[in-house]
Amino acid sequence: MTTVEVPEYRVVDSIELPASKTAVIVVDMQNDFVKPEGKLYVPTAQATVEPIRRLLDRARSAGARIFYTQDTHYDNDPEYGIWGEHVRYGTWGWEIIDELKPQPGDIVIVKTRYDGFYGTPLDDLLRVFGIEYTVIVGTVANICVLHTAASAALRWYKVVVPINGISALNDFDLHAALRQIDFLYKGTIVRTTDGIVFK
Ligand code: ZN
Repeated sequence: MTTVEVPEYRVVDSIELPASKTAVIVVDMQNDFVKPEGKLYVPTAQATVEPIRRLLDRARSAGARIFYTQDTHYDNDPEYGIWGEHVRYGTWGWEIIDELKPQPGDIVIVKTRYDGFYGTPLDDLLRVFGIEYTVIVGTVANICVLHTAASAALRWYKVVVPINGISALNDFDLHAALRQIDFLYKGTIVRTTDGIVFK
């Protein structure tokens, strides 16, 4: 076992974003990940629900676009070999949690891998709506959040991630993801969802 320190990453207290050019992407906030009875429970995810809900309220009133990704697997899905069965299509665990239920006008992107862009219309829709900024929240920080943030950055969208809007299975994974988003993808790490101001 080697113990390492997480390299520093930049954190800002607040950021202003133009609502008309911003999309909030809520990653995989589904029962299987967020609820204790779920098949791939992330215990710290529940604490992000309220900060995400407040962010969505303000984003909707400001007129920002809201996207959700919904991780989705089918019979004999190869991901079951890695993680066990989870978010099987049509089950309770697959559904997005009630507290963050998508509203009319929100867009739900069904995805089959970690990356919200892979094999989905997400990039096309962001372009159609003239989006330049993506605010990415949800779970799991170093898996689907990181892959989606990376994929957004590779397409030159600006990436913003609030720390209290993401969750991981342990602190190392959380900080490693934030470090990558800052260092590699030049995203902006904001301390809390309340620090994101829509104008
Ligand atoms: Zn999955």
